[in-house]
Amino acid sequence: MKNIPYGRQTIDDSDVEAVARALRSDWLTQGPRVAEFERDLAAYCGAKHAVVFANGTLALQAAYFAAGVKEGDEVVTTPITFAATATAALWQGAKVVFADVDPETGNLDPREVERKLTERTRVLAPVDFSGRPADLAAFQRLAKDRGLVVVEDACHALGGTFQGRRIGSIADLTVFSFHPVKSITTGEGGAVLTDDPVRAEAMAKFRMHGIARGEDWEYAVEEQATNCRLTDIQCALGSSQLRRLDRFIERRRAIARRYRDLLRGLEGVTPPPPSDESSWHLYVVQIQGPEGRRREVFRGLRERGIGVQVHYIPVYRHPLYRRLGFKAGLCPKAEAYYERILSLPIFPALTDGEQDQVVAALKESLKSPSLP
Ligand SMILES: *Cc1c(COP(=O)(O)O)cnc(C)c1O
Repeated sequence: MKNIPYGRQTIDDSDVEAVARALRSDWLTQGPRVAEFERDLAAYCGAKHAVVFANGTLALQAAYFAAGVKEGDEVVTTPITFAATATAALWQGAKVVFADVDPETGNLDPREVERKLTERTRVLAPVDFSGRPADLAAFQRLAKDRGLVVVEDACHALGGTFQGRRIGSIADLTVFSFHPVKSITTGEGGAVLTDDPVRAEAMAKFRMHGIARGEDWEYAVEEQATNCRLTDIQCALGSSQLRRLDRFIERRRAIARRYRDLLRGLEGVTPPPPSDESSWHLYVVQIQGPEGRRREVFRGLRERGIGVQVHYIPVYRHPLYRRLGFKAGLCPKAEAYYERILSLPIFPALTDGEQDQVVAALKESLKSPSLP
């Protein structure tokens, strides 16, 4: 029996043909397909500008750059995220501040963020954890009142909505990733969406060595930036994938609803709260019981060929952040959440049969711990 991963891409012949056309064209990078993908993305999300990058991590860094983050500015974010949300801010010279989360959803809690604000706060960086939108209205309000900028890490949330509005049209700057496990893929890739033309231009400069063009051969390196461009080959794949995004999200939502039915009444497992707005990047259940139970269930599932994962170890528990002075216990709700979570497989191509297999393996792992 084949292993079932927690997430994977969905590629079809139309994607292969789109990439082949790009390969046969005059442009492999920085041709017409880059601007085309940016137009497609902006139109899909209902934003004025999209700027694409080599990956989501550099897209985050460009967003912090465009938000005006300077040495010593504070960026407030969640510990329940991939480390890149925080580390990209470190690269821009920021001091990262962690605020605690909602114990049911794992999403950053705006009231906890408010308690962490100082005169040096520059950016609020909520994450739409697992695809469930953070309380974007609360974060935009907080930011507007105090002249801050919201950088929404929506790497999980492309295709989702918040109060009926598309993710990508709400925050000052919205960041996406196109890694193969995300809503759509370009292999590696990322983007930032914004309505602000000045910030869009700053980000275009960021991915192009900080260069402003002059006359004839002249150009000026004006910023300490880098090369983090996305290629035409990848953008061809991105536009092709984007055409099927709504179908992908529909399927993810159906899988989430079905998990809820299949897990109903299963003792020791708390499914995530239902949501019609989540893009359902991850299906994160909480394993209840004594310490060590989650690890037993994790191992039991892995032994049965189910590629479960844990998203995420709280960022400040990593050695880099310990060296920066962060201590265990900083965000107690995030740590308690981390102790229980397990991500079950969810991706558009997951079949009902495979999903049944996951649930059967979960039931077995719950009753027969794999540990001696
Ligand atoms: C995937 C991801 C990133 C980084 O994206 P890459 O494209 O892999 O660099 C950042 N933040 C979150 C929450 C992610 O899931």
